[in-house]
Amino acid sequence: MSAVTVKDIRTILTSPGSGGVQKRLVIVKVITSDDGLYGLGCATFTQRHLAVRTVVHDFLRPLLIGKDVQRIEDLWQLVHVNAYWRNRPVMNNALSGVDMALWDIKGKLAGMPVYQLLGGKCREGAEVYRHAGGHDPAQVEENVRRLMEQGFHHVRCQMGGYGGTADRPGPEHRLSGAYFDPSAYARSIPCLFEHLRSTIGFEVELLHDVHERLAPIQAVQLAKQLEPFRLFFLEDLLPPEQIDWFATVRQQCSTPLAMGELFTNPNEWKPLITNRLIDFIRCHISAIGGLTPAKKLAILAEAFGIRTDWHGPGDVSPVGHAANVHLDVSSPNFGIQEWSGFSEAEQEVFPGCPEVRQGYAYPNDRPGLGIDIDESLAAKYPCPDGVVEWTQARTPDGTHVYP
Ligand code: MG
Repeated sequence: MSAVTVKDIRTILTSPGSGGVQKRLVIVKVITSDDGLYGLGCATFTQRHLAVRTVVHDFLRPLLIGKDVQRIEDLWQLVHVNAYWRNRPVMNNALSGVDMALWDIKGKLAGMPVYQLLGGKCREGAEVYRHAGGHDPAQVEENVRRLMEQGFHHVRCQMGGYGGTADRPGPEHRLSGAYFDPSAYARSIPCLFEHLRSTIGFEVELLHDVHERLAPIQAVQLAKQLEPFRLFFLEDLLPPEQIDWFATVRQQCSTPLAMGELFTNPNEWKPLITNRLIDFIRCHISAIGGLTPAKKLAILAEAFGIRTDWHGPGDVSPVGHAANVHLDVSSPNFGIQEWSGFSEAEQEVFPGCPEVRQGYAYPNDRPGLGIDIDESLAAKYPCPDGVVEWTQARTPDGTHVYP
């Protein structure tokens, strides 16, 4: 039997819905030598989508044409080191697009959903959390209750976006930017959870994302202050550059910690996992290189009692969300899945999106990832040009800080 090989690789850029520069999706399509057989992968990096397209088209396409599509591990290793430098955004995203597409193809060849290839189901559906926001505690409460009525048992609560706005005046001639006040934010969040627990109670699971917006010692204080409110987890308490502080947080309180959406290099997650300094690993699967490294990461975390919560914001494509769910249902140490929901336009462009019912996400049982793309419809939603504003984060005195 002759091998099925890579015949062509294409990228499809699309922005269905109203996400603008926040939703510039990058899909990789690996076309095989078998007539009509192809796979799809998510390579989305919305802030640098054109750079990912260049890597896929100008570098991975010539490297991979003619290669045996069944040898996923070998092709992953080949691409991973082909540029000599490795473990970085853009190149990992491009690799992920190819990797997921190869898993999709392997599933189609086997006539099995990808979760079967990953070991089979450990559970029928993956429990998800949704986001509730608001300008004050009462408004957040209202939105939490609305999600609870829809069957969600886990809700992430934010007040005033990530860290609110900075009302405090700054120095003269301060530059434009996305201003916020870390101290005002740190004061407001314990009040929010005090309100939510006293009104809604403790039965619903509540989560919160700090979005690395505090000085490390403020982060330690906040984790301690939130301990009585029994969060399901506290997310991105520290930026990747300050992960050594997690040991201090652990010594001070038992607030569960989730970390990893910005990680791209195994050296970032290894010490946190092997020293048991976090409770949930939540990498962005396309940013670490696809399903192949994500499955290995899940197994590493399992050995240390750490659960998964793969990053699931709006700038993961439906193909990426499908990959998340296949991994979720087949990992014994699955914890929770972040869920942003799909717009009507996305569901039309991507037939076969995983569905959420009563708080659980379900992969469909079609072979591969079970999801397709309508390319002519995708072309009707071109990615907009534009500079990303929200990452231009500044504190009241005008200092540029982590977003
Ligand atoms: Mg986050």
